[in-house]
Amino acid sequence: MSRSSSTSDQVLRRALEARGHRFTDQRAAVYRLLAHTTIHPTADEVFLGVRDEVPGISLATVYKSLETLASCGLASKLSHADGSARYDGRTDPHHHARCIACGSVSDLPGELRDSDLSYVRSGADGFHVTGYQLELTGYCPDCARESDGEAVAAVG
Ligand SMILES: [Zn+2]
Ligand SMILES: [Zn+2]
Repeated sequence: MSRSSSTSDQVLRRALEARGHRFTDQRAAVYRLLAHTTIHPTADEVFLGVRDEVPGISLATVYKSLETLASCGLASKLSHADGSARYDGRTDPHHHARCIACGSVSDLPGELRDSDLSYVRSGADGFHVTGYQLELTGYCPDCARESDGEAVAAVG
C-alpha cells in the first residue's frame, strides 16, 4: 500500500496554516479519508475508517478534526434537521439525494439555473442570500426495492 500522499498533505498543510491551525497526522488522515470516499460519512464512520491508520485517535479528535477541516473550507458539513451530520470531502457546488430510510447521501450533479434560483430568491423578501443547499429526500435504490409496493402505496 502506497503512502505517497505528499501532494494532498501539502495542500492540507497550506490550508490549515493559512487559518492558524497546525498540520497533524490526525487531521491528515481524516482529510484523506474524506477525499477518497463518496458516502458522506458520519463522524462515527470517519472514526472507524481512520483508527487503524492512526492508533490511539479518539472519536472526540475526529469530531474536532472534521470541524477544523470544515472551517477551513476543506470539507463540507451536511447538517440535517434531526440533528445528525455527515461530512463531504467535495467542496465544489453540487447537490445531494438523502435516503430517509437508511440515511445514505449521494451526490447529484450541477447547480440550479439562475432563473430557478431567482424565482426562489424572490420569496426571500429582505433576506440577504449568501448561498443555498438543495437536498432531494426519498428512497435510495436499495430501500426503494425493499419497501417496493408499501412505499409507493404510502405516497400515493
Ligand atoms: Zn436507503
Ligand atoms: Zn456531496
